[in-house]
Amino acid sequence: MWLTNCFYDIIQLFYPRVCAGCFHSLASNEQVLCSYCTYFLPRTRYHTMKDNPLEKYFWGRIPVQRATAFCFFQKGNRLQRLIHQLKYQGRTDIGQFLGRLFGEELKESTDFAGIELIVPVPLHRSRLLQRGYNQVDFVCQGLSEALQKPWSTKALLRAHASESQTRKGRFERWANVAEVFTVPDETLIASKHLLLVDDVITTGSTLESAARTLLDKGAASICVATLGCSVK
Ligand SMILES: [Zn+2]
Repeated sequence: MWLTNCFYDIIQLFYPRVCAGCFHSLASNEQVLCSYCTYFLPRTRYHTMKDNPLEKYFWGRIPVQRATAFCFFQKGNRLQRLIHQLKYQGRTDIGQFLGRLFGEELKESTDFAGIELIVPVPLHRSRLLQRGYNQVDFVCQGLSEALQKPWSTKALLRAHASESQTRKGRFERWANVAEVFTVPDETLIASKHLLLVDDVITTGSTLESAARTLLDKGAASICVATLGCSVK
């Protein structure tokens, strides 16, 4: 043990490991986030609340069984910094780490623990080529490890790149992403309880369109889980 610690300290000299939340050094038993940052993540705990604000957000739009987000997402907050590194700085380990934490919490809910397959919202091919990875896949990997449920990138594909979403109204955004998802093999999702996963819910139109496609193609039910949301 003493030798291991010595070895660890020497490695630290050359490859310092810092917390992705506060950039202080990590202790040898910490990974990605320090205990302080992990404890103070702005959790929503929406999975414990039936008819929570995120579920109400989907009312009248798409029949989701349950919806939850791991944390509140705000400009400049801890989660926003983490998601920025996950998306733009190649820190895929952050996605996996947060996915695992999230999955451990979701075990408390029978609705979420009862899902059968985890499905990431796919990136369009052009963005995938540009970034090299879909950040949501790593969140799904972490969720899968914690919930002990399979995940698949083959269940849902994106057909067309949606144009920039930012300057459009809600209807136009919906129309813009509508019908862009396809299910290449319906047997993968037929009669299954799915957990549809995205990184951050902004307008909800992407998730709405993805959920609609999965239900149309024979999924039994959809639960939605995102890492971040600004809906309170
Ligand atoms: Zn920290």
